[in-house]
Amino acid sequence: MLPTPITTISLDGRTFYIKRDDLFDFYLAGNKFRKLYTLLQTPKKDLTKVISYGGTQSNAMVAIAALCKEKGWTFEYYTKPVSSFLKEQKKGNYIDALNFGMQHIELEENLYRDFVASLSVTLDEKTFVIHQGGANKEALFGLEVLAQELLQANVKFDAIATPSGTGTTALFLAKNIPHVKVYTTPCIGDVEYLKTQMLALEPTLPKNLVILEPKQKYHFAKPYNHFFAIYEKLLDAGVEFDLLYAPAMWEALLEQTKETVLYIHSGGVSGNATMQERYVRKFSVMPPK
Ligand SMILES: *Cc1c(COP(=O)(O)O)cnc(C)c1O
Repeated sequence: MLPTPITTISLDGRTFYIKRDDLFDFYLAGNKFRKLYTLLQTPKKDLTKVISYGGTQSNAMVAIAALCKEKGWTFEYYTKPVSSFLKEQKKGNYIDALNFGMQHIELEENLYRDFVASLSVTLDEKTFVIHQGGANKEALFGLEVLAQELLQANVKFDAIATPSGTGTTALFLAKNIPHVKVYTTPCIGDVEYLKTQMLALEPTLPKNLVILEPKQKYHFAKPYNHFFAIYEKLLDAGVEFDLLYAPAMWEALLEQTKETVLYIHSGGVSGNATMQERYVRKFSVMPPK
């Protein structure tokens, strides 16, 4: 199970190392598994329930659902009202999470906001709250374990790379491995927004953390034709990555870096089924496989 393997791929005449955190589990994968590491180590009897909230296609949601099924814990997931289109989907993270036993509770917009705010007050000791995207201090430990695995691996690399949403992964990784350069790029919002998110977790940003500016302004989860091209290029090179975060990170790495880079696979492949459908509808691309 651990450490996850490190493989290589060749792209544009360069060799990249890939830390295969996608292989830990199809659902409990990538940085979500690292951020949930503390919970994964928690004995079954210590908890009865996990509560979280956020988007209905989220990789964090399905990762928590898989973990709770494994542990026998109840999983309550709160969202704003969702469309009937989503509920009718036959594949993707939402339906998979329901199949793992997730209890989905929809709240009206303002009730949702109040509910999320109320979650900072401790409930009972057998209930654990995970904030949106897993952006909390508990994530630090799992990323310490990842850093140890990288240091003990017998590979030589000049820099590490991983894409950012909340920035929790890139920030904590950089903090745990201070002598190695860590590249990231914002996939949600711009560089300024990413820095603000990170500074909510840490008073200062580590010097070895390098935020690459995306080539253009991207809107999160919007299909871009050249993102699909990058996804397919990576697939041809031998590894499937997600369609939301990985394309922007790879684009930035290929265009803005030259060193030997070790890319931390951040998971999210379980969300590709629904993203592929959107690409097919929008650009009439052929879905792979
Ligand atoms: C959640 C996620 C990210 C972003 O992780 P943060 O720690 O929020 O920056 C990146 N890639 C994938 C595939 C994800 O699911």
